[in-house]
Amino acid sequence: MTTTPSETLPAFDGRALIDGQRVWARDGQTYAKHSPVDGRLLADVARGGGADIDAAVAAARAAFEDGRWARQAPAARKRVLVRWAELILAHADELARMETLDMGKPVRYARSVDVHSAANCIRWYGEAIDKVYDEIAPTPRTALALVTREPVGVVGVIVPWNYPMLMAAWKVGPALAVGNSVVLKPSEKSPFSALRLAELALEAGLPPGVFNVVPGFGPEAGSALALHMDVDAIAFTGSTRVGKQIHVMAGQSNLKRAWTELGGKSPNLVFADCPDLDRAVQAAVGSVFFNQGESCNAPSRLFVEASIKEAFLERALQLVPRYQPADPRDPATVMGAIVDRQQLGTVMRYIELGQAEGARLLAGGQAVEPVPGGCYVQPTIFDGVHNGMTIAREEIFGPVLSVISFTDPQDAIRQANDSIYGLQAAVWTRDLNKAHAVARALRAGTVHVNQYDEDDITVPFGGFRQSGIGRDKSLHALDKYTELKTTWIRLDDPF
Ligand code: NAD
Repeated sequence: MTTTPSETLPAFDGRALIDGQRVWARDGQTYAKHSPVDGRLLADVARGGGADIDAAVAAARAAFEDGRWARQAPAARKRVLVRWAELILAHADELARMETLDMGKPVRYARSVDVHSAANCIRWYGEAIDKVYDEIAPTPRTALALVTREPVGVVGVIVPWNYPMLMAAWKVGPALAVGNSVVLKPSEKSPFSALRLAELALEAGLPPGVFNVVPGFGPEAGSALALHMDVDAIAFTGSTRVGKQIHVMAGQSNLKRAWTELGGKSPNLVFADCPDLDRAVQAAVGSVFFNQGESCNAPSRLFVEASIKEAFLERALQLVPRYQPADPRDPATVMGAIVDRQQLGTVMRYIELGQAEGARLLAGGQAVEPVPGGCYVQPTIFDGVHNGMTIAREEIFGPVLSVISFTDPQDAIRQANDSIYGLQAAVWTRDLNKAHAVARALRAGTVHVNQYDEDDITVPFGGFRQSGIGRDKSLHALDKYTELKTTWIRLDDPF
């Protein structure tokens, strides 16, 4: 391994951050957090429970009601968020190495993607604060109707482990921008970067109590937050299974607004007339193996028109050696560690199931240990998959590509849409009419045309069907964190 910029470890502090203070759980419970890179113990982490969520929600409520954040001038709130984004970038090296050791992703991407996109997201929403205007409705002359956006109040945020800091930023950025207070529960598998982000927010001038972080497990801290009677909205990213429970808990408690970004099994449709076969192959392979396949929008179902399938697979197999897992602390590594032994076991079970169901293993399929004690799996490609197989229906959340062939556009659309999910999709063709018609027919929140990995904070991200309710990113995300209020002012007509 080449030497990383610094061999000293980032400070892993597992205490919660409530009302501006780093604190252990009220009942003193902790859990040990190990690194998937090499199995080492990183730190003990506060195992938050109901009492800790109560304390964090009380702090967030007090901060919201006294207006220490919500009633600051928009320009002042903007300054804090922009300063916060700058501090995140100033700590890019520390945060990237923290994320890598915590959940296994290659440090090159932790830095170039996660840290940069998180800072960009927070800056973008900060800068939007003084550019979003309220409306005046077209009423009769004897009335003035103002339609204003108001913060919902206390927002609970629950995020997964695959992009810990970025998923937090996608929700906390817009929620804070419009004046809410936040209680965030990071995944128990990756708690550290969210805690560090919250410390940097304090340093940037965010008043204590406005952004609180309580680490802990889903059925303990997570459900306490989703069920809390004094939380006004819950923004969740995670599995469809838990997302459904979040909507039930929101309804069972105080009918808090619930927004969910959930799983996917995204179809990637490559037609024989795709404009550049090499680029299509690179994108198909690179995107499904990116982040070890632990991406909600991974294009894990690859539909290739039958006439080019052999040529496509031949080129795909040539790329596979590039994605062999290696030490993610090495800046040259492109495929790192799977988040933990439990997830590694899940991925391996799907690989066995694919073979048992009759799919043909073309590449990979083995767990490996490029770093002793770590959790790694080879990039894996299955051919001969049909859309009814479990590996084509269920989200694996690992580096596993299922290749399926199709005969014509209708066949491709039918198979692609035959899924409970609808997060993303892609279509590759040089025929603009076909690209447009297929894109319109696909049931997905985002359809890529002749690319897969380009993205921007300005466009909404979210799913149709069981991929969730609501959108992250873009100005549309502000809808989740604001209530619309109409103020109807009666006027007398003096003329
Ligand atoms: P998960 O659903 O197991 O956990 C997500 C979060 O929910 C964690 O913080 C967890 O502690 C918490 N949680 C678990 N049980 C809970 C409960 N009963 N009550 C409240 N909270 C609970 O998901 P994961 O394994 O952490 O993440 C992987 C999933 O996230 C995948 O399905 C992936 O597709 C999805 N994801 C979606 C997006 C998106 O934007 N659509 C982005 C990233 C990840």
